[in-house]
Amino acid sequence: MSDDQDSIKVILIGDSGTGKTNLITVAAGYEFDSNSLSTTSCSYIQKTYTKHNADYKVNIWDTIGQEKFRSLTKIFVKESKIVILVYDITNKETFESLPFWKQLVDEILDYTPVFAVVGNKMDLYDKEQVKGDEADKYAESIGAKVLLTSAKKDSESFCNFIGELLEDYLLKDKGERIDSFALAKDNIIKKKNCC
Ligand code: GDP
Ligand code: MG
Repeated sequence: MSDDQDSIKVILIGDSGTGKTNLITVAAGYEFDSNSLSTTSCSYIQKTYTKHNADYKVNIWDTIGQEKFRSLTKIFVKESKIVILVYDITNKETFESLPFWKQLVDEILDYTPVFAVVGNKMDLYDKEQVKGDEADKYAESIGAKVLLTSAKKDSESFCNFIGELLEDYLLKDKGERIDSFALAKDNIIKKKNCC
């Protein structure tokens, strides 16, 4: 099997400006970029998670900025197993958009992926417009886990969260229970351009 066929596809979606590209950039081990412009190239990073000597490759895909036009391409969504809905905790509108993004995914996929909700920019907590319990309530309604984090200040929790979602996916789709789960030490394999 090719490298990419046996990897698990994860996508980040949500309004433009919520920090999706930075979450991925930081997860890839690069510096947070405070001047990042809208994403101009579609790409994904690959991370490897290990459990009892078995490796699980996860490809985390970023958009090419199509979310600005409130659309998602089929190719971007197709075959994703874990869908992360991202909002900005300082911007209520981005939270209110989440059902819209989820519906676009539901229209494209003919199966139910593992959904998750991420509230980003927690370093700007004093400007918070979305309370944690509102996020919990929405997430619960769609059977998703929630993470409140900051791409700027916290490089670890997002990576660990993807590990948890991977556990949920493996349990749901393959009935595999994972007791201990860790990021492989050399987990950043590559960053790829895909279009
Ligand atoms: P995207 O459009 O969803 O990919 O968002 P970007 O990753 O391009 O980020 C949009 C803007 O928000 C940029 O100016 C980032 O520097 C900023 N940003 C992203 N994550 C954070 C964060 O955790 N905290 C703060 N303060 N700014 C952030
Ligand atoms: Mg982006």
